[in-house]
Amino acid sequence: MNLLKWNLAGKLFNRCFFLLWVLAWLFIFPHYVFGEEWVRVKWVADGDTIVLKDGTFVRYIAIDSPEIDHQNNIAEPYGYAAKEYNEKLVLSTKLRLEYDREKTDRFGRKLAYVFTENGVFVNQALLEKGYAFYLHSKPNLKYRDLLIKTQQQAMAHKRGIWKNLREKSEWYIGNRNSKRFHTPDCSWGKKTHPKNEILLTSAWDAFWQGYAPCRRCLSLGDLNDP
Ligand SMILES: [Zn+2]
Repeated sequence: MNLLKWNLAGKLFNRCFFLLWVLAWLFIFPHYVFGEEWVRVKWVADGDTIVLKDGTFVRYIAIDSPEIDHQNNIAEPYGYAAKEYNEKLVLSTKLRLEYDREKTDRFGRKLAYVFTENGVFVNQALLEKGYAFYLHSKPNLKYRDLLIKTQQQAMAHKRGIWKNLREKSEWYIGNRNSKRFHTPDCSWGKKTHPKNEILLTSAWDAFWQGYAPCRRCLSLGDLNDP
């Protein structure tokens, strides 16, 4: 009889222990259990990069914002407007980070889609205001269609960087694989494999189709009238 009681008590203890163990995991590591991670921002580096409270750099996936002044670069048009808008979106809220196939870039920064507590998709919100352009980031293509569509709406309304876009060249070399476009005299553009090469008649068209400018031959300063 006593043995039976002990057995029952033992089973009950095991179950309780298991339940406590599960609850502990849920409370301590919710992002691990639900595949979600909630974080807070320490400071905003620019329109597409933030630094978390623990010092981790997070680069928003699939968008590129105009540069602000740093080291050898001078600010591009809308660089500071993009940074300020990013601050407005992320500084006073908890953020949920969502990942695609690559979790970090070659600089060790986390690559993420960022959502606020109110459900604002920050990467998309920056495109919506014309404070970033779509950056094809293979293999991270989870929201490609949504983001290109959002950019097209911003372009149609001539918001932000789309307001005074100007052409730097009569035509451009596009790379169908990397989705980058170059001026005809760019040495990188000239290396495009003929299989991937496409002629683009305007930067506007290139952006519209989801191509992004090569950082070597085209800056947003080149493509914007002051
Ligand atoms: Zn180029």
